[in-house]
Amino acid sequence: MRSNQPAQASAARVESAFAKGPQKKWRAGVLGATGIVGQRLVNLLADHPWFALTEVAASERSSGRTYAEAVQWHLEAPIPDAARDLAVKGLETDLDCDFVFSALDSSVAGSAEEDFARAGYPVVSNTRNHRMDPDVPLLIPEVNAAHLDAIPLQQKNRGYDTGFIVTNPNCSTAGLVLVLKPLADAFGLEKIFVVTLQAISGAGYPGVASMDIQGNVVPFISGEEEKMEAERFVDAGLGLSAHCNRVPVVDGHLECVSVGLKKIASLDEVREALRNFEVDSELASLPSAVRHPVVVLDEEDRPQPRRDVNAGNGMAAVVGRVRECPLLDVKLTLLSHNLVRGAAGAALLNAELLAARGFLKHRVTPSESPLAEPVSR
Ligand code: NAP
Repeated sequence: MRSNQPAQASAARVESAFAKGPQKKWRAGVLGATGIVGQRLVNLLADHPWFALTEVAASERSSGRTYAEAVQWHLEAPIPDAARDLAVKGLETDLDCDFVFSALDSSVAGSAEEDFARAGYPVVSNTRNHRMDPDVPLLIPEVNAAHLDAIPLQQKNRGYDTGFIVTNPNCSTAGLVLVLKPLADAFGLEKIFVVTLQAISGAGYPGVASMDIQGNVVPFISGEEEKMEAERFVDAGLGLSAHCNRVPVVDGHLECVSVGLKKIASLDEVREALRNFEVDSELASLPSAVRHPVVVLDEEDRPQPRRDVNAGNGMAAVVGRVRECPLLDVKLTLLSHNLVRGAAGAALLNAELLAARGFLKHRVTPSESPLAEPVSR
């Protein structure tokens, strides 16, 4: 079971060390920076108070070009100035940064992430490749921050020195677990039945062919149901069945969920447990955190992707239509931003927690080393 524990001591440490922000920003690299998730990361890193983007890496198709030349930019905000002229590198492990985010295609992520961890870089991953490794934290800070305790074990098991890998969950699991966590704490969970309606941006770019998705629904997303049924956060013994569908929506995964509870609860008690879900002071002090990560709407036709996907800067799960379920106990509809809460924003929050807990170090660059040759003028 991956559970959360209060972290009073570290909360106090974070508040005192970061009250005015860190003295020196950590330098971040993004592997897979040209992809749909990578560009969200590049966007979220612009003006970040703790991190500065110094490296972008991608495939041979992109390396050697500037970021602005290589990327097919999809966001409304322009490419951040700090990223435009960065040279896109390959996956060589000599990047000038303190840690890397991985938004790589899963065909290359597994070995590349291990290579970077072995070379001393903390790797904050969005990919599925190492999620189920028992010594790799599969992290949602609001749910199981204590799982970071696995990092020293991972380093020992794998012979890593300062490097390690931390992952975030599948994009549909991310929103679901945020909503299940307060229900598990208040009432206990027995069974979950979930039907997803997942946005096309969840398939990367170019993703599903327009001929397949325009005016259509595709009732199959390879590997998705298995991932949702395997990534257990709230209760290892929980029965969970998932049906996953691709729908013609750009951003935002909607999920229709029926829940069996261990304790009888009224609908008002369920709504109250969701509304009262609040992060502790350690998490609240992280730049990307939202104090109440679950937003409950009372309108009978919400949440809707177009209207609600950016709630809490894309970091909240939005719940509506809480009602009785004739088969299980309660049913509801939830929405979360697959590219923010389900990917880039989640990775950023994970990195912030790592920084706050002292897991990120400032690597010495060749130019800063006391052994560096003096520059002759
Ligand atoms: P994407 O748009 O297809 O981007 C893939 C990235 O990987 C690109 O930067 C691409 O570089 C790079 N890449 C591909 N082959 C490579 C190689 N051989 N060597 C080096 N780099 C290579 O995919 P995405 O949607 O951003 O997803 C990225 C990762 O996040 C995937 O593992 C995905 O499963 C995971 N994820 C995605 C979402 C989502 O909602 N989209 C949510 C959670 C997790 P080029 O541009 O140079 O080809």
